[in-house]
Amino acid sequence: MQTLSRTELKSRIDRQPRIGLAFLPTPLQECRRLSDTLRGPKIWMKRDDLTGLALGGNKTRMLEFWMAQAREAAADLVITGAFLQSNHCRQVAAAANRLGMKTVLVLFGKIQGELQGNLLLDVILGADIRNVPDGSFADLQQHLYATEQAYRERGYKPYVIDGLGAATVTGAVAYVECLLEMVAQWEEIGLKPDYVITPSGSGSTHAGLALGVKTLGLRTKIQGFSVRRNAREIRPSVAGIANQAAQLLDLPINLDPEEILVEDRTVGEGYGIPTEGCLEAVRLLGQTEGILLDPTYSGKAMAGLIHSARERHFPPGSTIVFVHTGGVPILFARSRYFSPDHD
Ligand SMILES: *Cc1c(COP(=O)(O)O)cnc(C)c1O
Repeated sequence: MQTLSRTELKSRIDRQPRIGLAFLPTPLQECRRLSDTLRGPKIWMKRDDLTGLALGGNKTRMLEFWMAQAREAAADLVITGAFLQSNHCRQVAAAANRLGMKTVLVLFGKIQGELQGNLLLDVILGADIRNVPDGSFADLQQHLYATEQAYRERGYKPYVIDGLGAATVTGAVAYVECLLEMVAQWEEIGLKPDYVITPSGSGSTHAGLALGVKTLGLRTKIQGFSVRRNAREIRPSVAGIANQAAQLLDLPINLDPEEILVEDRTVGEGYGIPTEGCLEAVRLLGQTEGILLDPTYSGKAMAGLIHSARERHFPPGSTIVFVHTGGVPILFARSRYFSPDHD
């Protein structure tokens, strides 16, 4: 299969409409004390938790493309939704504020107790919050488009980021670019990573990175660790997103579900429920590197890395880059898991 040069790939991405929102490039940091503690591979971290938009995270990169689409549609209001502690929603609200647009967030579940984490930030950012009963993604979709209709009737020009349809393809494009950004950083310091590790949620991040390495013909493997779905579900889904992104960028690349590397034992009891390994990973990163992970995404992916390192899954002398996708505000909404009497 044909591969592309970095310059050519970059020029394909640059054809997409885009608004600058993130601090790029994000830092690439060595985690020597973590490597020593695990007596494992060399570990580096791509700090996409530091993209800068109201505490940052991976959605900020994606929003550079999403918000450009909103602006092209002459929108004055952005509508999106997810769970109460959604990093995505918080970053959307911040991005919309920067661009002078209003935000409506449709959030699953009831607000109970103290306002904390991302939800607190949503309120501070001034988003209009609609709570809906817990449901499926299809239910959420329905709420989003009903909300859009209602605002349209009131004279607004809403733009919906549904996060599941075409939007995930946009997200993947942002992570093809993150891969390009990392390759330039690797080259500068002579790093040749064997693995890039990422949490795999909806799969946009995972898909973009996988598409990036294949397009450039790199031997670096992209290893996802699931935060919610099982591997059987993820492989075709991530390959599908990557292939749609390839089409959008006009790349001569096709990914097979079998090429998608993913582990799902990191999920535990389900989405948003931290496993013991996840809690250990959050503590370990704090205590070895002074880096904060989150208990829903980056903590689970790091638990996967730690587990794999202990099982000697990475060949001796290998180099790993862990993509820190953000999510730290969730820590404050999950403090009970870290209290000394939590069992
Ligand atoms: C959304 C999110 C992810 C998952 O990214 P996907 O592209 O949906 O797989 C991972 N980490 C954090 C912190 C997130 O907010």
